[in-house]
Amino acid sequence: MLSVFIFIIGACIGSFLNVCICRIPRRESIIFPRSQCKCGAQIPWWLNIPLVSWLLLKGKARCCGCNIPVRYFVVELLTAILFIIVFHLSDSLSNFIIGSGFCSLLLVIAFIDIDTMEIYDAMSIGGIFVGFIVSLFFPGWHNEQSNMASFTKSLSGACLGSGLVFWIAIIGEMVFKKEAIGCGDIKLLGTIGAFIGWKGCLFAILGGCLISTLISLPLLLVWKLAKAKNFTIPREIPFAPVLVVGSITYVLYGQNILNLLL
Ligand SMILES: [Zn+2]
Repeated sequence: MLSVFIFIIGACIGSFLNVCICRIPRRESIIFPRSQCKCGAQIPWWLNIPLVSWLLLKGKARCCGCNIPVRYFVVELLTAILFIIVFHLSDSLSNFIIGSGFCSLLLVIAFIDIDTMEIYDAMSIGGIFVGFIVSLFFPGWHNEQSNMASFTKSLSGACLGSGLVFWIAIIGEMVFKKEAIGCGDIKLLGTIGAFIGWKGCLFAILGGCLISTLISLPLLLVWKLAKAKNFTIPREIPFAPVLVVGSITYVLYGQNILNLLL
């Protein structure tokens, strides 16, 4: 019963994350106005129920028949599933709230980066401060007893995370003669470090690189084929989503994976 409740909350938060992903790059308010269709019609609440409405409408808007991107559905489902997993892995309410909040922030950052190739300071630098505060007041999040030890983990994570990527960026620029890692990624790793410490940061970077290599190999083939047929496909994989997948994996199963490997 409780799981169903958490799933519904997750789907509702996911619906809100969709609004953030859509409106933050346009610098619009994330609270007002209420949801509108592309045609300008207001969407009544009963057509705006997370997951359910998209399925019932089969991805077509009621007002004008235009497509509602499947991504809205995917983000809602993904958030709901993450909430359930974090809930079952958390040993306290505060850890559940911090864990699901952190995952939500990362999802918004990843999808905005996919859309715009940009990471907004409000979320990355803002996230660093939230990470510090959370670590100071909830040492249980870092499996620590004392507030100071927990805060130190967070601070060292933020410094190491952004510092390490800063050097990777500099070396990358020397080797590839172009910007390999953006400034936004450096700040994002600060956020990740502030929440999950230096171990989490390393895990996110290495895990992220592994994942992006696995994705790039088949993509290279697709690029070759597309070039032969004169299609143009963007060649760059945004780094933020890769880091986000690495970080969320660490939040959920990082300790188990490290125990297996070490
Ligand atoms: Zn419409």
